[in-house]
Amino acid sequence: MKYLIKISILLAFFFIGQNSFAQNIDYYNQGINYSNKCQYNKALESFKKAIKLNPNDSKTKIALSITYYNVSSSYIDQYKFDEAIQYLNNAIKLNPNFSKAKENLGVAYSNKASILAANGNYQEAINNYNKALAIGYNKPVILQNLELAHTKLNQSINNNFTIANNYYDKKDYKTAIEYYKKALQTEQNNVEIYTKLANSYFLSQDYENSLKNYEKVAQLTPKKLDSSRLDFLNKLRDKVYVTRVEELSKKLNTLTLKEKAPQSIYNLVNFESGLKQNSNLKTYEILDYIWNDEEGKHLLKTLAEHNIKINILNGNKMASTDTDYSRSKNKALKTEINFYESTVQSFKDNSKSDIYTMAALRTFIHEFCHAVAGLNPVYKEKTNSIEEELCINMIVDNITFRLSRGYGLSEDETKYFSKRNLIDILSDYHAELPVYNGFYSEITKIYEIQPPNYNLYKDILTLYKEIRNQDNINKNNSLEKTLTSQT
Ligand SMILES: [Zn+2]
Repeated sequence: MKYLIKISILLAFFFIGQNSFAQNIDYYNQGINYSNKCQYNKALESFKKAIKLNPNDSKTKIALSITYYNVSSSYIDQYKFDEAIQYLNNAIKLNPNFSKAKENLGVAYSNKASILAANGNYQEAINNYNKALAIGYNKPVILQNLELAHTKLNQSINNNFTIANNYYDKKDYKTAIEYYKKALQTEQNNVEIYTKLANSYFLSQDYENSLKNYEKVAQLTPKKLDSSRLDFLNKLRDKVYVTRVEELSKKLNTLTLKEKAPQSIYNLVNFESGLKQNSNLKTYEILDYIWNDEEGKHLLKTLAEHNIKINILNGNKMASTDTDYSRSKNKALKTEINFYESTVQSFKDNSKSDIYTMAALRTFIHEFCHAVAGLNPVYKEKTNSIEEELCINMIVDNITFRLSRGYGLSEDETKYFSKRNLIDILSDYHAELPVYNGFYSEITKIYEIQPPNYNLYKDILTLYKEIRNQDNINKNNSLEKTLTSQT
């Protein structure tokens, strides 16, 4: 399949009567000499030098083009089709009417495709057959091979899917999963395969991966999922995310802290008389944890800057933050945060489950956010809105996730936790709080605290519309009233 071309003869034909070529003539003649001795690689170097000296000389261009072609022929003989393709493209670039080079390019693409097909790489084979066709190399054998590659490609998809389904029916989900994944390599957006893959994970109790694939199904389903499938998806999300929070709680106990909070932060804590001696109190450790997150640190520094006291009280009540504006219009007169001994004691108390550790940490961060928010004069008398509660809960989720796993909430988690937090808020006495769709901008502007991906749910009325049909939501709350007065 070698079609070597003798340059001297061709050039004699093309360029009879041409004048001399200035400086490049030596390199040019050198190239011709090498060419005549069939030393094409050496000829190539000479002609490259010649064209560098005189880039527009058409005789040199043709000679270089032919030499590229000749070198490419030996690459084809060695089955080095990528190199051959590169050289032939160079040849055609220099001489667009070089039909023999085009034909060889077709040969190179088609041979490359055949090897790919023989190795089972049908998609790549198809791509290369199509490249051969695109440059006009449309031999009947190419069309036949192309059709065969398409058939084999479909068979290989069907094969993997069929094999997977057989294992699935035999309840060998582990092997089924392997084959569903193989099937997905060639068929990336197939809802049916994703569904079976998600089912396989679910049936082998790998809920994380099951959720990941059901989310993909939901994403690929053009219309919305029907209500039973959506209900299933929501239940799975609950299961996965609750498990994730439990895992975080466990991790929190093994976390090594990079830095302890400074004494000035510890000094903010006020103990009711007698409690200070109780060695079960882990107050400072909670502060250390919060100090090890950038936003947590920012919160604590703000509390210290404004000398906001943290009271640890005797008894067993809810945590609270009280801000007193009574004698000042622009500034909170006094802000106090109250925690109860029981909350503090549950932090890292080995007799209780890890969830208590997490709950105590959450309570602390939550109240610190209220205290910092209360410092904002713009926000005066508008504090304690439903939006404030939601924003604060999202900040808390983000900080606790970041502390225990190194990164905050993902987009999916943000959506999920926003809804869950709002449902919680609307199910307790917070439901009667007013709506103030301004807290987000205030808290981000003045205190540099960012509820994660909050732009997803900047408008809590929109979020509420999505969840208002749930049974456990109080329909007589202030959010519902705002919503119905607007529509
Ligand atoms: Zn609150």
